[in-house]
Amino acid sequence: MVESRDILVTGGAGYIGAHACKALAAAGFRPVAYDNLVYGHVKAVKWGPLERGDVLDRARLNAVLEAYDFAAVMHFAAFAYVGESVADPGKYYRNNVAGTLTLIEALRDHGIGKIVFSSTCATYGVPDHVPIAEDWPQRPINPYGATKLIAEQMISDFGRAHGLRSAVLRYFNAAGADSQGDIGECHEPETHLIPLALEAATGGPALTVFGNDYPTSDGTCVRDYIHVTDLAEAHVAALEKLLAGGESGALNLGTGNGVSVLEVLGSVERTSGRKVPFEFGPRRDGDPPVLVADSARSQRELGWSPRLSEIDQIVRSAWRWHVSEGAKKPAKNCDAP
Ligand code: UDP
Repeated sequence: MVESRDILVTGGAGYIGAHACKALAAAGFRPVAYDNLVYGHVKAVKWGPLERGDVLDRARLNAVLEAYDFAAVMHFAAFAYVGESVADPGKYYRNNVAGTLTLIEALRDHGIGKIVFSSTCATYGVPDHVPIAEDWPQRPINPYGATKLIAEQMISDFGRAHGLRSAVLRYFNAAGADSQGDIGECHEPETHLIPLALEAATGGPALTVFGNDYPTSDGTCVRDYIHVTDLAEAHVAALEKLLAGGESGALNLGTGNGVSVLEVLGSVERTSGRKVPFEFGPRRDGDPPVLVADSARSQRELGWSPRLSEIDQIVRSAWRWHVSEGAKKPAKNCDAP
């Protein structure tokens, strides 16, 4: 029997989900985006059908699972603002935990036994040292990270009980935009460093650098930035491994290179040829000083390695997207025609 190439992509209209849909289509799959469009954008769904629905809506999920013959699921649908998760944890536990439970129960009941899950380095909390390997203790320090850790545990328990096979992918800092300009980062509100720095460089509000007294080379936080297209390709590699009978496991997706906030601003200035106005402000709650992946396992197990994730490459792609979106001002809106 020929295996179906239909893949359910929850959150397929979001930033990372849409890049995954593009990579899936390039690999010969048919991505079916399932998205409630709260943060997702209709315009980002270009590589397969859009099924509007919420992961908490079991009846709607059942209908979509019955309408296609899914070989597997990629589960991105989640809320992902750390600060908001601290202020409104119920919203995060409901969507990220109850939503994942609703989804995996529906998968169990429809006999769909493979899932690629979008997790995060926020499940590790503040590491004792870096780089962080997959078997390090997971001690999240905010509700967002806690909800992703609980979801990981549920998926693993469903594996033991019901045979669900999973690739749990823990991302470090996803950034950048599609090289063909098809999709890019468009969050509302925007809280991420690179888009905010690009805004600041092009006449937007000055950036606040959160803290300059960290124990790092220049006093600012260090992160491991990975290009969203590299992330998307790793998802496809993980999916193909599961489809070929591979075992369940958790993998870090990062580059292993740490870049400080000031180094990111330097890259934005080089790329854009403009100054980034900024000031130093206090540390942001819940920000560990340094998060860098040990990426050896994912590279070994997936036969994958980042190819677009050097910081200047990431910023260049984000800059191109920013300039093309900026041209649509004043009606800058991800769903503008
Ligand atoms: N950051 C900053 N100013 C901002 C936004 C972010 O200094 O306006 C810093 C933040 O403290 C962190 C890094 O930039 O060290 C990356 O933050 P971002 O929100 O992009 O991703 P996160 O690490 O929270 O996933």
